[in-house]
Amino acid sequence: MTNKRGHMVPHSSDDVRGSLYIVATPIGNLDDFSRRAEQTLREVDYIAAEDTRHTRRLLNHFGIDAKLFSIHDHNEKDKADYVATLLDEGKNVALVSDAGTPLISDPGYHVVHALRDKGHKVLPIPGACALISALCASGLPTDQFFFAGFVPAKSKGRCDLFESWKKQTGTVVFYESTHRVYDSITDVQKVYGDDAQLVLAREVTKTFETFLSGTAAEILAMFDADANQLRGEFVVMLSFTQESGNEVELEVKRILTILLEDLPVKQAAAMAAKLTGEKKNYLYKMALEMQSEE
Ligand code: SAM
Repeated sequence: MTNKRGHMVPHSSDDVRGSLYIVATPIGNLDDFSRRAEQTLREVDYIAAEDTRHTRRLLNHFGIDAKLFSIHDHNEKDKADYVATLLDEGKNVALVSDAGTPLISDPGYHVVHALRDKGHKVLPIPGACALISALCASGLPTDQFFFAGFVPAKSKGRCDLFESWKKQTGTVVFYESTHRVYDSITDVQKVYGDDAQLVLAREVTKTFETFLSGTAAEILAMFDADANQLRGEFVVMLSFTQESGNEVELEVKRILTILLEDLPVKQAAAMAAKLTGEKKNYLYKMALEMQSEE
């Protein structure tokens, strides 16, 4: 339980259960560790960490002495019960991953799901997250985006997934490792040719932070020219050009255009909703935008 400044306060007599804090840690630059995150890790009774040795280094840097135990992909279903017991005893627990926001392509989902199910208090302590940091500085559209986590390791699975994004609206964001980034971008090139604009955010908040922009072919040429550009951690972002990409959106617009020739906006949107299965409100807004663009 925390006061308005986010600091923990003693429990009232009828609320003896502890809370689980989901604490974001830096993705590179340690100055991104928030004061509230630091305070929380200082005050909780236990810290559940993806890798206790990794987290110990962060804690040592900030002079935090804490009891750690591990929660990772292979034990988190079992550890959910253990955390529930600690909270029932009135202990406060923080969950951290190696870097960034826990649960975002990191362990923790099963624990949070199970604890919420049991009515426990789960509180976020927000901070760094690679996908948000990369997206907000990418220059690609941010009004709608789809986060795909890590994409399949094998080319066939990857190409099938990339193909399915042709129906996706907004920017698509995924995480990629240094070992696979060249092959992944090669597959983007296979599926989209020049019809996708890419931004690769590498080593965000670290010394060699770089944003590479271009088509897949242009990015591959940058890799070929400088192998150092393949080093480090990557967030890959794709924005589809009108011609490629959003086949569904193009089809919806085509239908709306025809209907708007004979019907007022509201009726055209209602009719288009019946024909396409899209939401009426979404189509109504789209129709208004189309009219204002004319
Ligand atoms: N939970 C983390 C977050 O909030 O972003 C992500 C953890 S996931 C296991 C690790 C992946 O995130 C990396 O392989 C990379 O794709 C991306 N990532 C993490 N830190 C990054 C950074 N500093 N720059 C670019 N990508 C990063």
